[in-house]
Amino acid sequence: MCHEFFNDSSFYHFLFQVDLDIASKVQQQPCQHCGGYLHSARYPRKPRGPRHCLTNDYDTRLSFCCAEEGCRRRTTPPSVRFLGRKVYLGVVIILITALNHGLSHQRRQRLFDQLEINPQTFYRWLRWWRETFSASRCWQSVRGLFMPPLNSIQLPGELLGRFTGCDLQQRLCQFLQLLLPLSGTSWSGYLGVAVDPQKR
Ligand SMILES: [Zn+2]
Repeated sequence: MCHEFFNDSSFYHFLFQVDLDIASKVQQQPCQHCGGYLHSARYPRKPRGPRHCLTNDYDTRLSFCCAEEGCRRRTTPPSVRFLGRKVYLGVVIILITALNHGLSHQRRQRLFDQLEINPQTFYRWLRWWRETFSASRCWQSVRGLFMPPLNSIQLPGELLGRFTGCDLQQRLCQFLQLLLPLSGTSWSGYLGVAVDPQKR
């Protein structure tokens, strides 16, 4: 069910397009510190996961630098690809941890091997959902929308199942959209971007 996500380069291309869209919306706004113009200043990333599906667009994080002398502050837009400083892509972290219970031991081990995930990393992700994410302002501000309430031990699998998207791909995109505030952004504001693979 989920291995196709680790072989579908068009899905990763779609996520890159969403990031471009988000970044262009951010660049249309002035620098949030001084009102100056924002210039492109991508910085290198080396995401792990399905490397064979990723083009070199994944070797950088979209980011901007203020053009104003004396400010030059960096503005990094939210991203549906990168989950802050985590080296694995957000979609990998969601899928591997959400489908945890649905995978046989051998199946999980094969995915770990394919994606070069070690078990310690996997358990660290589970803890991240249950401790860091569940206490985050991002989750606290939306958890009331999910009825019946979800407790932290049900994260992220139950949450993925609660999204209304018509297929796993669409639900994943809804999940990634919810995680935008945790994507390592230094920009705050309203983004009128719908992350909907049905409209690509
Ligand atoms: Zn500035």
